[in-house]
Amino acid sequence: MTHNDKLIHEAFDAESFRQTGHELIDLLADFLHASTSGALEQALPWLEPEASFRFWEEDFSREQGASPIALFEKVLQHSIRISHPRYMGHQISPAAPLAALASLVDGFLNNGMGVYEMGAAGTAIERKVVQAVAEKMGFGPDAGGVMTSGGTLANLTALLTARSAMAPSAAWQEGQHEKLALLVSEEAHYCVSRAVRIMGWGEGGIVKVPADDSYRMRTELLPEYYEKASREGRIVIAVVGSACTTSTGSFDNLAAIAGFCRARGLWFHVDGAHGGALAFSPQHSHLLSGVGQADSVVMDFHKMLLTPAVATALIYRNGNHAFRTFSQQAQYLWAKETDEEWYNLAKRTFECTKLMMGLKAYALLRTYGPELWEQYLGKVMELGREFAALVRETPELELAVEPQCNIVCFRRRPHGLDDKEVNALNEAIRQALVEDGRYYIVKTNLRGRVFLRVTLSNPFTSRQDIKGLLGLVLADRKFLQTP
Ligand SMILES: *Cc1c(COP(=O)(O)O)cnc(C)c1O
Repeated sequence: MTHNDKLIHEAFDAESFRQTGHELIDLLADFLHASTSGALEQALPWLEPEASFRFWEEDFSREQGASPIALFEKVLQHSIRISHPRYMGHQISPAAPLAALASLVDGFLNNGMGVYEMGAAGTAIERKVVQAVAEKMGFGPDAGGVMTSGGTLANLTALLTARSAMAPSAAWQEGQHEKLALLVSEEAHYCVSRAVRIMGWGEGGIVKVPADDSYRMRTELLPEYYEKASREGRIVIAVVGSACTTSTGSFDNLAAIAGFCRARGLWFHVDGAHGGALAFSPQHSHLLSGVGQADSVVMDFHKMLLTPAVATALIYRNGNHAFRTFSQQAQYLWAKETDEEWYNLAKRTFECTKLMMGLKAYALLRTYGPELWEQYLGKVMELGREFAALVRETPELELAVEPQCNIVCFRRRPHGLDDKEVNALNEAIRQALVEDGRYYIVKTNLRGRVFLRVTLSNPFTSRQDIKGLLGLVLADRKFLQTP
């Protein structure tokens, strides 16, 4: 060791890693207990963005070289607590501690996964996880797929595959000439629209089918919107079903979309980023009825399956399709370079370097079996029902729609206020809640009306927690003005 490699030795010192690691696990275990038990007051320790930046600026200048444990402690104190029973915000589930440990192993090994040698274990594990999902979705032995970084990227990947399989000419080689289009519910996640624009289909490439009062695609309108797009010179190649929609958690009728796609020879893609996980719940998988007929399905592990972000499965009914997505070869050559290379993942995913995304889910499956997910899904679906029931029996509160899963939209509507005032009131309630920080919920705009929105993703949320939230929503102006 010389003076100019001292830090390198320090950074890689096994004994110091052992000691810091033990301290960190103690810190996290105490935090886990304090968080899941609700003993921590705040679900969201709120700071204005500028104040947050000042805090970390000061930390950075004052604490150079100080204990990393104190740093991690500060990060815990200043981060939103997904594992807190009063966290009911955006769709992400608390990470099961074992899956978080798998993340640590993943980061520690830093295997690249692009080519087989760079991720021998991770590649096989990913294949196994993809298989487990495919089976639950009801796909046959030809199914296959990949894991990728989030539902947004997975949806884009699936739609690139659809284009490669369905478009009359090879856009990948020749550029995008034809005016292609897909049909999707007006309630779909914005990433579908973004994918269409990335592919160069323009605004006319996304044909939005109206949704019904439950925010489900009006599938009886599919033929009409298909004909209309065709008359306007568009070649419709795919329909995207939402399972479920993001705002209200509404499940499109997948079986009806499948029938339409079969009749017209269209690619059927299911965006199951949130609700696809229900394939692991025998009690609730009926919401996905028809998903097994899809050509491709996306499912996030981080939203409903207790897995640290990001971990997303993209499943193809015919696994060989995955090889055409990024194939540099002309289509006629494609058939020759198919499934023999399942183990070189970069051929089929956007990412070049990516971590062992499958390990987190695999560790949970191998340790607890699918029953852990089944129990968790049962619990959070039940919480959705309970939440809705409590809203229904509270005067001045109303539901946007009968919830179909663990996403519930509701609002306060006192007598005598007009629509604008009701919107402003609910905006103010949501802002006051954020600044108060004991609860975290979000809001959504449904056909011009502002609703408060919760995703019940914490299995430790209790009836008392829900009642406490509704109490704050109904609190007098004092709470709203002085959080
Ligand atoms: C959350 C969500 C997405 C985006 O997934 P990410 O993993 O956040 O990229 C896409 N579609 C739907 C329906 C979603 O709920």
